[in-house]
Amino acid sequence: MKINGVVVRVPGKINLQLGVGPLDPNGYHEVTTVFQAISLFDDVKVKVGEAGSGIAITLSGSTAPGVPVDDSNLAHRAAQIMIERYDIGSDIEIHLKKEIPVAGGMAGGSADAAGVLVGIDALFDLGLSRDVMERIAAELGSDVPFSISGGIAIGRGRGDQITPVLSRGSYHWVLALSGHGLSTPAVYNECDRLREGLSISRPQISDLMMQSLRAGDSKAVGKSLSNDLQPAACSLRPALRLVLDVGLEYGALGGIVSGSGPTVAFLVEDEEKALDLTVALSASGVVAGVIRATGPTHGARVIETL
Ligand code: ATP
Repeated sequence: MKINGVVVRVPGKINLQLGVGPLDPNGYHEVTTVFQAISLFDDVKVKVGEAGSGIAITLSGSTAPGVPVDDSNLAHRAAQIMIERYDIGSDIEIHLKKEIPVAGGMAGGSADAAGVLVGIDALFDLGLSRDVMERIAAELGSDVPFSISGGIAIGRGRGDQITPVLSRGSYHWVLALSGHGLSTPAVYNECDRLREGLSISRPQISDLMMQSLRAGDSKAVGKSLSNDLQPAACSLRPALRLVLDVGLEYGALGGIVSGSGPTVAFLVEDEEKALDLTVALSASGVVAGVIRATGPTHGARVIETL
């Protein structure tokens, strides 16, 4: 049966550890990170568009306002790359239902790009392997391969070389949202500025983090959370320190700026603690919003065919 369209559900991510190496001569940083996919999703609908309409993007969802619909949208670039590489003669209609915070360090744009890759593969029955898809994903951005794979994984290189991590248990998160995003390049620049004159070693994942994940020990995972970009994000947005203090004071197992921020992710013991912390953070007046989520969850996958 020929399908007219697909809906792909794609998760946001949290970096449980993010190690950032020194700036290399090409202007990049080597990154070693542990990603966890969490239950906060964008739904990406991909359909064959009307002839002559090109790649057309529409938006809905709570975090859609302000997201571009032109070729600067990562989903547009993903569609373009697939059309060129696989000689797709059709125009493409994309609808993004966005719930992942924008510019929040949770890979919202990367999720949408991953959704388009998986969606076009399914719609045109291309039968691409995970490997091929992840390679195309890496051309679009360093977080895009993980958005396809989901679960828990180590990312090396620029974060785009993914190795799955076997782990146990599920994790409860409380996410403290900021009213305004932080630009990822600006946070890296600030990180370089703060480190000027220091000798920076190659980034590594701690043994304690790997052991804790294998054991499904959320208390130990909470203690092992770390992010080399956190000082830079806090330097650009000092209010984040206050948010971290409030969360830890109210019993979080650990708290961390997610990726380049400004979302702050708190790990808590269970659903009840998540509710308590949600109330405390909301009442504190230091956050723009609070969301609860669990992880790990699946990567980009088709949830509906049309
Ligand atoms: P990461 O965690 O991968 O660094 P992020 O979650 O901090 O990313 P995004 O939500 O991907 O950041 O958005 C960063 C910028 O990219 C936004 O300011 C927005 O203008 C632009 N952008 C392009 N495409 C998208 C998209 N599909 N969704 C959201 N933002 C997009």
